Amino acid sequence: MDFAWPDEIEALRCEALEVGRAAAASLSIREESWVRGFDRDFSRQLGERGWLGMTWPREVGGHERTALERFVVTEALISTGAPLAATWVGDRQIGPTLLANGSPEQIARYLPPMAAGEVTWSLGMSEPDAGSDLASLRTRAVERDGAWVIEGQKVWTSFAAVADHCYLVARTDPDAPPHAGMSEFIVHMDAPGITVAPIRDITGESHFCEVVFDGVVLPRDALVGKENGSWQQLMRQLEHERGGIDRLMSNRALYEDARATADRSNPTAAQEIAAIETMYRIVRLAVIREVIGQAPPGFSAVTKILGTELEQRIAQFVAATAGPAAMLDGRVSRAVVYAPAYTIQGGTSAILRNVIGERLLGLPRR
Ligand SMILES: Cc1cc2nc3c(=O)[nH]c(=O)nc-3n(C[C@H](O)[C@H](O)[C@H](O)COP(=O)(O)OP(=O)(O)OC[C@H]3O[C@@H](n4cnc5c(N)ncnc54)[C@H](O)[C@@H]3O)c2cc1C
Repeated sequence: MDFAWPDEIEALRCEALEVGRAAAASLSIREESWVRGFDRDFSRQLGERGWLGMTWPREVGGHERTALERFVVTEALISTGAPLAATWVGDRQIGPTLLANGSPEQIARYLPPMAAGEVTWSLGMSEPDAGSDLASLRTRAVERDGAWVIEGQKVWTSFAAVADHCYLVARTDPDAPPHAGMSEFIVHMDAPGITVAPIRDITGESHFCEVVFDGVVLPRDALVGKENGSWQQLMRQLEHERGGIDRLMSNRALYEDARATADRSNPTAAQEIAAIETMYRIVRLAVIREVIGQAPPGFSAVTKILGTELEQRIAQFVAATAGPAAMLDGRVSRAVVYAPAYTIQGGTSAILRNVIGERLLGLPRR
């Protein structure tokens, strides 16, 4: 099922496709452009076009456009492989999180540069022994002399080596039950005591990092929202992280190129194309339901599983279409070895199935 958008939305979509194609024209790899396509100049261009902070209030640099307008722009840009990574975390989830939980001062200070495409944010959630079980995190934030002092370590922190800010989740009450003792902080990455070590992944790229906080002092007003109230805030933030079009489109460009060369007279290939196209349309509808705010709380778990498992199926389809040549083609082999990441980043499929069982279906916890 395809939608016919109203004329002005269709015109916006076509404009975004044109901008995205031009931005990606010189790139040999267009996959995961929201993770690996890091380009500060293009980010500023997006800001100038009004394509960052699209739905945010004007007084904080936003443009008060509809969620659907943001959807068509981001879908078009990701589908073409336009380099979005420098602004993606801020635009997708930190801006909305600060609008929901930040103080007026934090909103006034941090949103305008995000909407202008001038800053990069990273997400400091996962730790060496706290990934799926985020509530077991051990990085401490201790209040001392009117400031917060941070001690601990994060891992898999995308963009930490280039980010201006990190949105950090840390333990503020070690005596409370794990979910009730965490708080959120804005960290400026040039603060003394921060050490960042990039981690090389299987593709040879190193967008994620290990980050050590050794007595990092944050001002009192670095706290976002309620002290010890992070868990509730995070549940909302993760909906932005899991339910969007980025979880469906990461390797769409690669798929379209492979589909064009696939042998459609081969029934196996034809069936696989039909299955992928069908699933793609179903998941896109699920994303649109998230975008317009009609998905039930927690449903982003379903959307992310469906989208990212389809992305993995696409990697297999592309490899099968290329045959043995897949091993010699850098773009295809890269896509195959990167594919496991889709169902890990942002919460693993196993964990999200737990969310579906417990939160959406009300099944008993084990
Ligand atoms: C490309 C990429 C980018 C990332 N970027 C960031 C980032 O920017 N910021 C950030 O904070 N993190 C980031 N992460 C980390 C990511 O969120 C974690 O890797 C993920 O949540 C899983 O945690 P873990 O790696 O510690 O695995 P573990 O939690 O150790 O899980 C290992 C395995 O056990 C399974 N498992 C664990 N617990 C359960 C359970 N209760 N029930 C069933 N199965 C279970 C998991 O599904 C998984 O298969 C990134 C990861 C990747 C791959």
